[in-house]
Amino acid sequence: MKKYDYLIVGSGLFGSVFAHEANKRGKTCLVIDKRDHAGGNVFCEKVEGINVHKYGPHVFHTNDEDIWNYVQQFVKFNHFVCNTLAVYKDEMYNLPFNMNTFYQLWGTRKPEEAKAKIQSQKEALNIKEPSNLEEQALSLVGPDVYEKLIKGYTEKQWGRPATELPAFIIKRLPVRFTYDNNYFNDKYQGIPIGGYNVLIDGLLEGIEVRTNTDYFENREEFDNIADNVVFTGKIDQYYDFQFGQLEYRSLRFDTEVMDTDNYQGNAVVNYTERDVPYTRVIEHKHFEFGTGPKTVVTKEHPQEWTSEKEPYYPVNDAKNTAVFKQYQDLADKAENVIFGGRLAEYRYYDMHQIIGSALKKVKDHFSAVEA
Ligand code: FAD
Repeated sequence: MKKYDYLIVGSGLFGSVFAHEANKRGKTCLVIDKRDHAGGNVFCEKVEGINVHKYGPHVFHTNDEDIWNYVQQFVKFNHFVCNTLAVYKDEMYNLPFNMNTFYQLWGTRKPEEAKAKIQSQKEALNIKEPSNLEEQALSLVGPDVYEKLIKGYTEKQWGRPATELPAFIIKRLPVRFTYDNNYFNDKYQGIPIGGYNVLIDGLLEGIEVRTNTDYFENREEFDNIADNVVFTGKIDQYYDFQFGQLEYRSLRFDTEVMDTDNYQGNAVVNYTERDVPYTRVIEHKHFEFGTGPKTVVTKEHPQEWTSEKEPYYPVNDAKNTAVFKQYQDLADKAENVIFGGRLAEYRYYDMHQIIGSALKKVKDHFSAVEA
């Protein structure tokens, strides 16, 4: 008989939801995380009384009422609505592309005028089969929106010219013909009151958590400590990189405390020019309507990923997809190991999707166990 029913590797949202649900079912759990804190990428660090989103700005949004109700058990959410701005040279635009953006670009006031403008720009280019991201974006929104608001940002994000990026990265570009700056279309949206750590603390209440603990440093011991392992780390590392390393894009966050109460008047401002090295500037206090005398500002710099950097965005191209498939085939056959979360599934997930995916795995797993 092993000491725990479940060893959960990773205390991000996936691991925390799984641990909570297993604990609720009377199972003993040990959660480990190699970082010095729980919460994974939603962790917030308190600086000058402000919750700083340490791994990038996180806005919770969902259309799924069950998931919204699920998180409300642990924390209430404020009424933050994500309205992102874009700076291009000395011009400022509202995002996502909507009637405000079109007014700022062309002075068009009526939807018909904006539609006609986009249509005429697209028709002039006459792109039938886009062969790269640039052509794809141009064929969807025309050159003005593309040049000022998409091109530079995307090239910084991916670290290469848009003409060298595959068209599939941009499948659709949502264009709204209403004066609506709300970034998300979802029914529910907000920031946990008190920050994301309140959510994680609620999920992990009553569960043993060991931080600064890397599974791979004591793998044998950890495999023998519990009957089941829930693994939310990198799947290629779990299998000793036997089919090669999966690739990611990484980010560098430059954060500073400023001696002003309000630096940019908004939580997120995108910088869409290629020559500005960062993609976004985050002013964290605006997520929670902070009114203190100081502010904390983060500049987000996309960067190449190497194994010592944080893996943020999977590169789901044909090559990596094929490598991942080989790992997935092994994972499908693994006994007493459940793989889940963004790193084990090599997939970008929003928070509500991760929670949904963890709850589904919980349901499938426990209905099989209890059958
Ligand atoms: P993680 O949070 O990464 O947790 C995995 C944990 O496993 C980590 O804590 C890690 O330290 C630990 N771990 C890994 N390997 C080991 C090991 N060997 N031993 C021990 N521990 C290990 N979603 C939204 O809904 N809205 C947003 O606005 C939003 N913004 C985002 C912005 C950025 C820049 C990024 C990158 C993501 C954003 N997301 C957003 C997505 C969100 O971050 C994820 O959905 C969520 O954090 C994934 O949770 P997870 O548990 O899968 O992974």
